[in-house]
Amino acid sequence: MKKVLLMAALAFAVASCSNDSNEESLEAINNDGIDIAAARKCHANENYEKMLQNPEFQRNVMQIESQTSLFLQESLAKKGKPPRGGGDGDGGSGGSDNLGTINIPVYVHVIYNNANENISNAQIDSQIAVLNDDFRKTNNDANQVPSEFAGLAADSEITFTLAGVTRKSSSRTSWGTNDAMKFDANGGVSVVDPANALNIWVCNIGGGILGYAQFPGGSASTDGVVISPQFFGTTGYVSAPFDRGRTATHEVGHYLNLRHIWGDGRCNRDDFVSDTPTSDRANYGCPSYPTNHCRSTDMTMNYMDYTNDACMYMFSNGQKARMRALFAPGGARADLAN
Ligand code: ZN
Ligand code: CA
Repeated sequence: MKKVLLMAALAFAVASCSNDSNEESLEAINNDGIDIAAARKCHANENYEKMLQNPEFQRNVMQIESQTSLFLQESLAKKGKPPRGGGDGDGGSGGSDNLGTINIPVYVHVIYNNANENISNAQIDSQIAVLNDDFRKTNNDANQVPSEFAGLAADSEITFTLAGVTRKSSSRTSWGTNDAMKFDANGGVSVVDPANALNIWVCNIGGGILGYAQFPGGSASTDGVVISPQFFGTTGYVSAPFDRGRTATHEVGHYLNLRHIWGDGRCNRDDFVSDTPTSDRANYGCPSYPTNHCRSTDMTMNYMDYTNDACMYMFSNGQKARMRALFAPGGARADLAN
């Protein structure tokens, strides 16, 4: 069964950008390009190809999935439940661990081409506040979760503290998704202490892309998330309907190993979380409830769907457990927790 999970994880990495006919839901594993227009295409970027061909990244993904599945079994056992016998083994029914509240230091690198893009400290603070609210379930829209899912909405017990801000002016008006902004040598800002802190680069990506993230298991030099300034925080230079800071919540979800809630494929493609209903597509805008696909109600209000900021307001218990596995001893982001 473990073997199946590992193979599935790799299959995801290999297939998510090429073999699937559902063009709308494709996305590179390390690269979260999103077009604001409904029709999104696969961002077949160099980065993604590189990562797939990198045996070290493949090994890392397998190792992370195997450690995650062990952690979930242990945390379920701690709660007095037998490990699940099912295929994805994500502990979605809610286990417990003894990791306590995990605080993540955050470095924000603002790279700007004009005064608007040189966002204020207040705008940065507003984003940190949203991350704390969303990951602690103190977001003021948490009460909108429909009763069908209310029992699954999680306080992830992860917090964020701003550790530093760097600012750099640039002649570059857009940066794309090839990680150029992550290196001094390219006119960007090199990563700071990635083993112990989350790095967020705020710069104009362009192409209608809100943000993108690197999953655990990738290179330390590019670890972190990138977000365009108009979609960062809730005050200042922000642009509706992505002006509630949820792009960072979504991207940090990826950074903490969450996949898109529909699994980036058809009904049987998994997000490796058992309490998120299966779906065969992303949802956009602000869907009415209930929205059904694959014979179940889509959890369209999950941060890992593609809905508007105002229409996403929960992580699930299974997603919480999957994220927290990274912080356990031997986990891919264990040093972040200390
Ligand atoms: Zn995404
Ligand atoms: Ca699921």
